[in-house]
Amino acid sequence: MSQKFIGAHVSAAGGVENAPLNAHNIGASAFALFTKSQRQWAAKPLTEKSIDLFKERCAKFGFAPEQILPHDSYLINLGHPEVEALEKSRNAFIDEIERCRQLGLDRLNFHPGSHLRTLSEEACITRIAESINIALDRTEGVIAVIENTAGQGSNLGWKFEQIAAMIEQVSDKSRVGVCIDTCHTFAAGYDLRTKEACEQTFAEFERIVGFQYLKGMHLNDSKGAFGSKKDRHHSLGAGEIGWECFRYIMQDNRFDGVPMVLETIDDTLWPDEIQTLHRLAAEAR
Ligand code: ZN
Ligand code: MN
Ligand code: MN
Repeated sequence: MSQKFIGAHVSAAGGVENAPLNAHNIGASAFALFTKSQRQWAAKPLTEKSIDLFKERCAKFGFAPEQILPHDSYLINLGHPEVEALEKSRNAFIDEIERCRQLGLDRLNFHPGSHLRTLSEEACITRIAESINIALDRTEGVIAVIENTAGQGSNLGWKFEQIAAMIEQVSDKSRVGVCIDTCHTFAAGYDLRTKEACEQTFAEFERIVGFQYLKGMHLNDSKGAFGSKKDRHHSLGAGEIGWECFRYIMQDNRFDGVPMVLETIDDTLWPDEIQTLHRLAAEAR
């Protein structure tokens, strides 16, 4: 019997303790959240009260750590070509890991980084891996979860080979993982429009990276065309990917046991999207 954890990237406005409540209210069995404002460097430490209430509500609504996928700030670039900016990113990343740890969470999702057309792809990948190694060295208990990107701008991590190269250079393989975003995958040039295309794309993922590293999924349709390198999400079934991909994921047990979260553009549709995904998962049993 399959175990699918399905939810959305919910708001943590007013405090992280509101995220599990918001997730519960849309019928979710998984959720993502920012543990601080995603567009600011500085953040107030989490209060004891916030932490306690977050844990209390996660327990109350049945969210275990493996059902929760916190996302780091968009400002962080772990492959930054300049020393000062790199240092700032590394410190902020360590702070984000510590916040996850305080909340009892076991993974942190992040975008690997950009070379800003200054570093070579290889040098940037090595720098990203170094950043991960430093962060893992100074923290404990949290897995660094690399999200595949659409390849927009100079963002790395859109090719499975690039992700594999990062993992390859991380010392502690037990604390590195991957989050696959379906919109990014498709925009990067991996087809997901049919069952056959999904089979091929995920076989490639298995061959190059490996499902043992899968620690989360972002379920998004794509406004951008196939291979467009555009990071533009759409509601499920409304974009260029279509429902077949999400049926495939829901009916394949390699996606069991990891948080799968919507980052689709219309949050009023989330309860329906979650319900439809659960129905597709149930069809397979
Ligand atoms: Zn992301
Ligand atoms: Mn994503
Ligand atoms: Mn995106």
